[in-house]
Amino acid sequence: MDINELCRMIKSCTNCRLHKSRKNSITGEGNFNTEIILIAQAPGKIEDSEGKMFIGPSGKIFNRLLQNAEIQRQDIYVTNLVKCYLPKCRRPSKDEIEQCSAFLEKEIEFINPQVIVTLGFHATRYIFKKYNLKRPPKNEYKNLFGKQLYAKNRIIFPVRHPTAILFNPEKEQLIQGNYNKILKLLP
Ligand code: SF4
Repeated sequence: MDINELCRMIKSCTNCRLHKSRKNSITGEGNFNTEIILIAQAPGKIEDSEGKMFIGPSGKIFNRLLQNAEIQRQDIYVTNLVKCYLPKCRRPSKDEIEQCSAFLEKEIEFINPQVIVTLGFHATRYIFKKYNLKRPPKNEYKNLFGKQLYAKNRIIFPVRHPTAILFNPEKEQLIQGNYNKILKLLP
């Protein structure tokens, strides 16, 4: 299997209940030869309708954060922990994450990035579990954002999800500061 075959599998996947309510399952996008992979939680409603990543309100903020950090979307790979829209933007359930993360595992294997940037709580918790990093209580994950950790020859860098700025615009400067560090993580 290669990453193109993986994308085809994601597009036709019916492995969990979310396939019934989605319009499109969303594959990762970007550069397959990059050293930097960004992992968000799941597609939003507009992404579900259009079949592309980060094109809704959060996507506009995401693009602004990247642009200000001098990161080109085509130079990185961006994907989701869960590939289908979660109705009413609810949180993913444990079994949905378990089912869908098999695709993320393959993406990480194929791309083999030096840097994994996790966007928000769910992606961060998943990657911390995968790499046996010490997981704090849920209400303390916020303390991890902007800190770099090392695991199995990779740098793990949690940041806030761009959606956080939709609800707390005053946090944009702080969050931007963390995104500004991403390119500097590369050895
Ligand atoms: Fe398949 Fe993942 Fe979509 Fe569930 S969320 S149907 S596992 S692609």
